[in-house]
Amino acid sequence: MTGDGTRAVRAGLPEPVAYEPTMPGPVFAAHYHLPGDAVGPYTYGRDDNPTWTGLERAIGELEAPGEDVHTVAFPSGMGAIAAVLLSGVRSGDTVVLPNDCYQAMPLIRERLESYGVEVRTAPTAGEAQAKHLEGAKLLWIETPSNPGLDVCDIRRLADAAHEAGALVAVDNTLATPLGQRPLELGADFSVASGTKGLTGHGDVLLGYVTCRDRELAAQVKLWRKTSGAILGPMEAWLAHRSLSTLQLRIDRQTATALALAEALRERPEVTGLRYPGLPDDPSHAVAARQMRSGRFGCVVSFTLPDRAYAERFLAALRLVDDATSFGGVRSTAERRGRWGGDDVPEGFVRFSVGAEDPEDLVADVLRALDETAAPTAG
Ligand SMILES: *Cc1c(COP(=O)(O)O)cnc(C)c1O
Repeated sequence: MTGDGTRAVRAGLPEPVAYEPTMPGPVFAAHYHLPGDAVGPYTYGRDDNPTWTGLERAIGELEAPGEDVHTVAFPSGMGAIAAVLLSGVRSGDTVVLPNDCYQAMPLIRERLESYGVEVRTAPTAGEAQAKHLEGAKLLWIETPSNPGLDVCDIRRLADAAHEAGALVAVDNTLATPLGQRPLELGADFSVASGTKGLTGHGDVLLGYVTCRDRELAAQVKLWRKTSGAILGPMEAWLAHRSLSTLQLRIDRQTATALALAEALRERPEVTGLRYPGLPDDPSHAVAARQMRSGRFGCVVSFTLPDRAYAERFLAALRLVDDATSFGGVRSTAERRGRWGGDDVPEGFVRFSVGAEDPEDLVADVLRALDETAAPTAG
């Protein structure tokens, strides 16, 4: 079995064919030549597209190397999440969600409840969801959680869920498949937004669902066809091209994130610092067991004294864009409270470490903190 970098540069590419491109370009097609019966790999553009196929193979090779898995691509992470949850449950079913997960999940919760699905929630930390599994149809896990960076033990939760007869889905957005392989850890679905670290350039939205079970995959794929929520070929191609640098980006971003967290812990104005790679972080023990190759992610979270203080800090940064999302090659940071969806203090900052030189980035952050602490100097 090859290493992650070797796999990433070739993932999903076709066998060499003389005089064909090594990576085929995007296929723009609403329909395909279709003689006879309406069967075949490519019939109509809402059902399948060769550029999706290449991307889906690539993601499958990264999520579960050497295994026969099925991946279904979506035009956004929420598209993928909605496909698993809305196609998989029926009125009267019970779903267990984290109560500290991605900020659009409460919208999914409301939708599920309006369809007569019982939704139970519990925190990510400490496998607290395990106590709510009785009679559940599906357990939804998000680890590390966004933006709080709590971590739970996927294997333990998956075993408990399967014992209770529930399927298990893991949101693998923050870790990416190079940082964590949920299917190996017992999950039935690995679901993610590829908008973040997976594609990493802040220029495309993407989502996907990977699973081993053919019927579960077919159900997700049928949802895509039914809802018509499909990816454009250009986006699929951009995303596939980005995967070739995944290992380079993730390793650089992870190493710099640790350096930044270590620098931030020395600062008295910084409280609530979280990074799963810090040895004394509450998430570290479980993260070190289940995340791969020390890839604890590119997100560092911390709290500054108040809202105005955090806003001054963000404005003082020169190498870091004040922008949402995370995982891109250019560092971003934001005051997360501005969205209103997360249970975080007003001065809470979610910082996404990019691919800049670590010393430049850390110096920029420390300078911005100094200027924020003494706003009159200068
Ligand atoms: C961003 C994000 C999503 C949603 O993805 P989109 O591509 O923005 O639809 C879902 N889960 C997590 C953990 C995310 O960070």
